Amino acid sequence: MSNFQNEFSWSPSRHRMFDSCKRQYYYNYYGSWGGWNKDADAQTQLLYRLKKITTVPQLVGTVVHDAISHEIRALQVGRPIHPSEIKTFAQKLFGQHLLVSEEQRWRYSASQYTNLFEHYYNEPFTETDQNNSANHISTSLNAFFASNAYATLQSAGPEDYLTIEDLTDFTLANTKIWVVLDVAIRRDKSVYIFDWKTGRERQADRHQLAVYALYATSQWGVALSDLQLQDIYLQTNTEQTLDLSPDDLDQTRIFVTESVQKMRALLDDPEQNTASQDTFPMTTNTHLCTTCPFKAVCYPNDRPARQPTTEPTIEQDPVQLSLF
Ligand code: SF4
Repeated sequence: MSNFQNEFSWSPSRHRMFDSCKRQYYYNYYGSWGGWNKDADAQTQLLYRLKKITTVPQLVGTVVHDAISHEIRALQVGRPIHPSEIKTFAQKLFGQHLLVSEEQRWRYSASQYTNLFEHYYNEPFTETDQNNSANHISTSLNAFFASNAYATLQSAGPEDYLTIEDLTDFTLANTKIWVVLDVAIRRDKSVYIFDWKTGRERQADRHQLAVYALYATSQWGVALSDLQLQDIYLQTNTEQTLDLSPDDLDQTRIFVTESVQKMRALLDDPEQNTASQDTFPMTTNTHLCTTCPFKAVCYPNDRPARQPTTEPTIEQDPVQLSLF
């Protein structure tokens, strides 16, 4: 059996999952734990396999982020890669992920090989969809190279870089808080944090940046007034700057602390970080289930199918001017 300890921690994505469906949260963080081990029971192995599933839009985001971090790492050492090479790299990467998913290599290793939701659940993914995804990748990378953020990175020296997509943590509410900043650089007194987005704008993006601000002020000793926080939406080619007041930062600490408390309150034993499935109800918003990787477990006989894609309007997910 695994020697890894399932330690309780918090991250912005964990909060989002807890908020959307408690059962999904349970499967993702508890039910699937240890499922990578061939000695684990069949249900745990299944939940682990499902946890590793990714949708095509998520894969597009991953590929774009991989390509951008590839470029930024090259930029850092003074050898920027030509945009056309980066775009070719991204398209090849996308093709490789599609191929290994089609070949179901995840049967050999769920952690190593991509398992696409569309393939696993045999849901429509036409040649047109594939071309649209490939275009989405190119459009996103064009927007990245044209962004003010990229121009700022181009003028940075190697020593200015603080992080490029590193998984890192800090402590708040006696809890390990995980963050992955796409890129952060220091210029004189200022610290710039840029976050690339391949999807639409969400209020959660602002919360995520605010958590990054907590990290930056506590770990790098940067004053809040010297912090430049920006989400860059690559599909719409828009840059959203987040200006935080000291009060906003306090509200963010409260937001994280309360989220941690709500998660811990559902545990059987908070010290041991153990949980029981029955304490984590399935969502009643079955629309969420249509794109959930765990729907094979929740609905073994009658899985809710995905509806034809409709672009959500701003009214469906309004981005508030205020942070909270
Ligand atoms: S299928 Fe629905 S109820 Fe089940 S985990 Fe997913 S979102 Fe929750």
